[in-house]
Amino acid sequence: MYIPEEILLIKNGELALKGLNRSSFEDVLVKNIRRRLRPLGSFQIRRAQSTIYIEPQADGIDLDTAADRVAHVFGISAFSRARVVAKDITVICEEAPRYLADQLRTAKTFKVEAKRSDKTFPLGSPAICAEVGGAVLAQFPHLKVDVRDPELLIMVEIRDFGAYIHAAQLPGAGGMPVGTAGRSGLLISGGIDSPVAAYMMAKRGLQLTAVHFASPPYTSERAEMKVLSLLGKVANYAGRISVNIVPFTKIQEEISRRCPEELFTLLMRRFMMRIAERVAVADGCHSLITGESLGQVASQTAQALAVTDAVCTVPVFRPVIGMDKEEIIRIARRIDTFDISIQPYEDCCTVFTPRHPRTRPTVAMLEEAERCLPVEEWIEEAIAGMRRITVDAADDEV
Ligand code: ATP
Ligand code: MG
Repeated sequence: MYIPEEILLIKNGELALKGLNRSSFEDVLVKNIRRRLRPLGSFQIRRAQSTIYIEPQADGIDLDTAADRVAHVFGISAFSRARVVAKDITVICEEAPRYLADQLRTAKTFKVEAKRSDKTFPLGSPAICAEVGGAVLAQFPHLKVDVRDPELLIMVEIRDFGAYIHAAQLPGAGGMPVGTAGRSGLLISGGIDSPVAAYMMAKRGLQLTAVHFASPPYTSERAEMKVLSLLGKVANYAGRISVNIVPFTKIQEEISRRCPEELFTLLMRRFMMRIAERVAVADGCHSLITGESLGQVASQTAQALAVTDAVCTVPVFRPVIGMDKEEIIRIARRIDTFDISIQPYEDCCTVFTPRHPRTRPTVAMLEEAERCLPVEEWIEEAIAGMRRITVDAADDEV
């Protein structure tokens, strides 16, 4: 059996969900971790004694990168790295101060906790703590033991096939494992808001099917490439995403030719929602996601949102609805989409923008304007011209 030098541990208390759906939640979580780590080499991922063990199965596997990947997997609030050593108290006492040297050097107080699941180990837990504590103090004499509120908690676990030493926890991504909340249709533009909205809803456990409307020749191939790059960044968290590129030129041109200019954006948005819902539902989605934020633009007033919602039968999630641009940008930077989003490009929404858009429309106004349009025919035609592309996590690209 291959015994790795260092592994990752996720304890029960570090999982984001407690109680009810625990077991199926963990199944999905383990599957998601496995998928994210596969490109890095062979790992054994197993559950035992209320812990998930992530163990590299060969020398030379990059555990820094593995830890970074695990930190992107939703469903984990914290995790730790642990050193695996022989079940020999002399070895443990040598290795604990060496493995944790950086943390011990900066800490002021510490405490050792021991857990002995292998009852054949000759020392009991209090004796292990005393030995390891003594070894640490011998090398870092500035430290004080604080059993109640230590700055650094050193854990020593004596398991079946080895001893583990670990300390500080690393922050996880939180949220729920992607897939545990089903699937949702994401309307993605090349802007700042919709990738953030995607990240936020994937965090609630939704798997994503993306829909993007393109209006060539008004929008370029580069605008489309930008959307694919953004989805790659989102996929670092949400897993592989398939995106449906829907041709939207004809609908936009026809609306601008045949309808009142002040309603143009809203009519267009109603078509987007109808088409996105149909594509999403066919792919097993039960909701839609947009990056709308209340009052940000004329088409994002409460009345405007009501007229777009009126054509949807599934709920529309708008996770950034109450956020300021600054708050949205902070998340965009953290998930690394911001720099891509601000690259100049043209979105189909910015083509044919009315000079004086309606900010207090009613559903009746929109229905009246649509009366002369072959709505169903246009929807079917757009869907018939759709292309589907699969986007993998950007981190997986070499
Ligand atoms: P973003 O920064 O996400 O582009 P925005 O503030 O620019 O948002 P709008 O352009 O009015 O707002 O778009 C609002 C929402 O409509 C977007 O967040 C996105 O969900 C959806 N959307 C806009 N353009 C497109 C498009 N070309 N394809 C798919 N969805 C779109
Ligand atoms: Mg936009």
